[in-house]
Amino acid sequence: MSNLKQSENSHGVRKILVSGVKPTGRVHIGNYFGAMKQFIDLQDKYESYIFIADYHAMTTVQNRAELMQGIIDVALDYLAIGLDPKKVTLFKQSDVPQVAELTWMFNCITTVPYLMRAHAYKDAEAKNKEINVGLFDYPLLMASDILMQNADIVPIGQDQKQHVEYARDTAQKFNRIYGETFKMPEHYILPKVETIPGTDGKKMSKSNENIIPLFATDEEIKKAVMKIPTDSKGVDEAKNPDESLLFAIHKLLLDGEALKNLENKYIEGGMGYKEAKELLIKDLTNFIKPMREKREMLAQDMDTVFDILKTGGKRAFMNAEKKMKEVREKVGVEIY
Ligand code: ADP
Repeated sequence: MSNLKQSENSHGVRKILVSGVKPTGRVHIGNYFGAMKQFIDLQDKYESYIFIADYHAMTTVQNRAELMQGIIDVALDYLAIGLDPKKVTLFKQSDVPQVAELTWMFNCITTVPYLMRAHAYKDAEAKNKEINVGLFDYPLLMASDILMQNADIVPIGQDQKQHVEYARDTAQKFNRIYGETFKMPEHYILPKVETIPGTDGKKMSKSNENIIPLFATDEEIKKAVMKIPTDSKGVDEAKNPDESLLFAIHKLLLDGEALKNLENKYIEGGMGYKEAKELLIKDLTNFIKPMREKREMLAQDMDTVFDILKTGGKRAFMNAEKKMKEVREKVGVEIY
């Protein structure tokens, strides 16, 4: 058996982690448990590059003030959940414009039918949405983000799995045409939290109006929980926790003894849904309040937040420039 650490390569060097969140609408507990929490849990072990996907957001946000505010919001979100800028390179995607350059090169080696298989594109098409070229090209921009920083792992929710496959295919294709250039990234998805349900039971998503915002006010927490549908079982009746949406959300917040206790309350009967909702409101409030307060504190000093982004942006830019020098040489545009 090898005694290599999973987070290190064969030279004992830390592996590279890359992921991002789009600055569109409010971050929710689905984003947190599905992906962002893993950024925190892994920040000591991996050399991490975490970005604000502002170029990606432009496929839907075409309003200057809204985009600017969205970027600021995600920066605050990242810091409030505990990303440590001393450990992690935190940056905004547009500070690495080389990703657009690399996307162009990927565009030229990718066929249209292949991109037409993307779930996000197919969904948009099924809903008869107007599809811009940016949305269609989204997987290749994401491939550029990942491959540019030489990622080994990409922590994401299940909905993004196909995008990492696109990144792998694209790396392979480029390497085949131009010679070994890009490392093969792997997705990092925790099965227990791969798809967090929203307050209506469908996947929690900013576009589904079913979210519990990660920095919700106490009022918003109450309102969101009260919306969660339950069956009509009475107080005394035994309930199957695995069939309860309320429990599916509640169990994110508990482990060990506390989780077992709640599970038993469902199974044994004696707890009505009113009480179950009150308990969830209490636990959500205890979980959210300290982060919300930290976020409010951080927002008082935006100069520091901007400095963090600028520093991270410079570092990510330098990595990208190094990578692109190699890429430009390989494709044949670097002639001097
Ligand atoms: P959204 O899907 O809400 O628009 P993003 O696309 O910015 O949010 O997603 C940020 C991260 O959160 C991605 O890794 C995505 O896979 C993850 N994620 C989003 N929604 C969920 C969910 N309901 N369950 C698990 N992970 C999710």
